[in-house]
Amino acid sequence: MEKKQSLLRALPSVDELLKEKAILNLLSQKPRQLIVNTIRTILEKEREKILKGKSQGVHKDNVVNQVVSEVERKGKNQLCRVINATGVVVHTNLGRSLLAKEAIAHIVEVAQYYNNLEYDLQQGRRGMRYSHIEGLLCELTGAEAAMVVNNNAGAVFLVLNTLAYGKKVIISRGQLIEIGGSFRIPDVMTRSGAILKEVGTTNRTHLYDYEDAIDEETAMLMKAHTSNYKIIGFTKEVPLKELVNLGHQYKLIVYEDLGSGNFINFPKYGLEKEPTVPEVVAAGVDIVSFSGDKLLGGPQAGIILGKEEYIEKIKRNPLNRALRIDKFTLAALESTLKLYRDEKTALREIPTLKFIFTPPEVLRRRARRLCRHLKKSLDNKEFALKVDADVSKVGGGALPGLTLPTYVIKIKPKRMSVVRLERELRATEPPLIGRIEDEALCLDVRTIQDEEIKLVPEIIKRALG
Ligand SMILES: *Cc1c(COP(=O)(O)O)cnc(C)c1O
Repeated sequence: MEKKQSLLRALPSVDELLKEKAILNLLSQKPRQLIVNTIRTILEKEREKILKGKSQGVHKDNVVNQVVSEVERKGKNQLCRVINATGVVVHTNLGRSLLAKEAIAHIVEVAQYYNNLEYDLQQGRRGMRYSHIEGLLCELTGAEAAMVVNNNAGAVFLVLNTLAYGKKVIISRGQLIEIGGSFRIPDVMTRSGAILKEVGTTNRTHLYDYEDAIDEETAMLMKAHTSNYKIIGFTKEVPLKELVNLGHQYKLIVYEDLGSGNFINFPKYGLEKEPTVPEVVAAGVDIVSFSGDKLLGGPQAGIILGKEEYIEKIKRNPLNRALRIDKFTLAALESTLKLYRDEKTALREIPTLKFIFTPPEVLRRRARRLCRHLKKSLDNKEFALKVDADVSKVGGGALPGLTLPTYVIKIKPKRMSVVRLERELRATEPPLIGRIEDEALCLDVRTIQDEEIKLVPEIIKRALG
């Protein structure tokens, strides 16, 4: 006990530390309160270590170093840019879709200046925030009416809460999806006040399964796009068109949670089919909802399209206010959607689409270029480098079965473990996120932007230095 007391007494005091040269230097650059609080926190931790018998005291210089690096860390933005070398285009952990230049410029404009968010410039009075994009959404999809909320999870909730509160919603057992981050159809349904009526089996659901389940309490037939898994083998799913016919025969609302908002005919470009929004609308659904930041390549948003009478009800739901989008989302969404008026423009300007459709030949050249840069800056006694063919995933709950041919750089460290290399690269500025595959760090060039290629060797060098 006495030993601990003397160790505690030996710790430097706050006042003492504030007189240290490195701290004085820090005081001339950073807020005093931040520095004092940081010193206190660090001293408190050192005290605890001593009391738990885990420390034999700490030198003043060590404390000073801790304070300097902690204050510097706090000065940086915690939400920061990273280099995505995973090849996963719509990576939910890395911010999903990058925005097109037009969308970014539009966000900056409404951030910097007042705008007509809820002002009708023609009438000179209060307007509706959705009015700016409703026409555009209808034009692009053929829907009667449209609105937008915070994200697709919010959209699903609001649709069910508005149109099926206290009523039954029939859905196939094969479509009771969970999306990462705790979005589960059955749970959202319960919270919305709708009553889940699951029909069929995991692999097979027939039209008669839906029909047999319809009773007076039923309000809706729902379909959820299985956007992050596939059921293969002996399967049967009811085509949307048939579900629509059944629903309308019984005067029920037919709703599809489409997940990803896709407008591109994938098979035309040699890729697997992913339903498009206009197709789903044309099939006659009453309501369809999807995300703004998955395949659509826009900002986080939940887009709801459908028959005017239902959209009007959804707009009037008081919960709508709690889920509403802000001016930045609206700006980015409008600009992104406008690019879809011309498919070629969309494929060229929307990063998510551009990355998905980058030809393997271009990726191979990019990988070779990066490899050349790396060979120039890294010591070949320390690393083995090679370019290899591999596959990337679209990610973000879209096209679960699809792999895209790509090229990766494989970096095999000779004098450290690959696990350590991967960790060091996550600690650089900006962090570089790759994946480990057969003892090598793999950098997939699909999601590395051209202007980032030169940064990669610098980052790796810094991480090792
Ligand atoms: C992604 C997804 C959601 C959730 O959308 P967010 O925009 O992430 O809230 C809901 N349903 C399906 C089918 C999805 O794929």
